[in-house]
Amino acid sequence: VTAARPSREVIDVGKVGMRLHVLGCSGSYPGPREPCSGYLLEATGKRIWLDAGGGTLAGLLSYCSLSDLDAIWISHLHPDHCTDLPLAINALVLGTKRSEPLPVLGPTGWATHMDAFLAQPGATATAFEVIELRDRQRMTLGNLVLEAAATVHGIETYGLRASAAGLTMAYSADSGPCPALAYLSEGSDLFLCEAGAKNPSPDAIHLTPEQAGNLAASSGARRLVLTHLLPDVDPLEARMRAARSFNGDVEVAVKEGVLELP
Ligand SMILES: [Zn+2]
Repeated sequence: VTAARPSREVIDVGKVGMRLHVLGCSGSYPGPREPCSGYLLEATGKRIWLDAGGGTLAGLLSYCSLSDLDAIWISHLHPDHCTDLPLAINALVLGTKRSEPLPVLGPTGWATHMDAFLAQPGATATAFEVIELRDRQRMTLGNLVLEAAATVHGIETYGLRASAAGLTMAYSADSGPCPALAYLSEGSDLFLCEAGAKNPSPDAIHLTPEQAGNLAASSGARRLVLTHLLPDVDPLEARMRAARSFNGDVEVAVKEGVLELP
C-alpha cells in the first residue's frame, strides 16, 4: 500500500476500475494521528464512505465533499466504525447542502442510535435517507453492485462485497471466523480483511492474521490487505503471519494509502 498526498486533484474515478482510499484503519481505538476504520470506495463514478470511524470524516473531506458521496455504509455500531456519522449530520445541516438526502446503509436501528447520540430525535432523517441492511441483501448503485453479508461480531454487523467492471473488492468489516467471510471474499480481486485479534480469542469476534491469510487462500482472493490492527501490533509481523498461509500479495492498510484495481 502506498501513501499518496490527499488531494482532490488526484481523483479521476474514470481512469481506474476501482479505488479504495484508506482514511483510517486503527483497530478498536485510535493511535497517535491514526484514525479508526474508514475508507472511501470509488468505482464506476460512484463514491461510498465505508465506515465512519473516529477521525475519518476529516480525511474524507480532503478527497471529496459530502455532496460528492453517493452513499455511506456503516458495517456496525461499535464506536470505532461510526462515531463520525453524527458529525456528518452536523456538516450537512450546518455546512454542505445536498439537493437529495444522502443514502446511509447500516444495521437495524442505526438511525435511532444516531438520534440518541445527538440528543435530537429525528435529526438523522433530516440529513440522510435511512436504509437498514439485511443478510445477503444485493443492491445496485449505477453499475456498482453491493452485497451485504452478516458476520459474527457479537453485534449486528455487515461485511461488503462490491463489484463493478469485472472487479470485486471484499470488506470483512469486523468479524470472527464465519461462513459469511467466504461468501464475501470468494474469488475477489482485493480482500480488505480485519486482523484485530493478536491471538485466537475465546469470544471469536475478530480474526488473527493467520485466520485472515487462511481465509484469503481458501476463498481464492488475489490480494489480501490486512486492516484493523490494534495500535500496538507490528504491521510487518502481522503481514508475515498472514503470508504463511496465503501465497498471493499480502499488504497492511495504512492511513492515506490508496488501493487500485486492476
Ligand atoms: Zn467492532
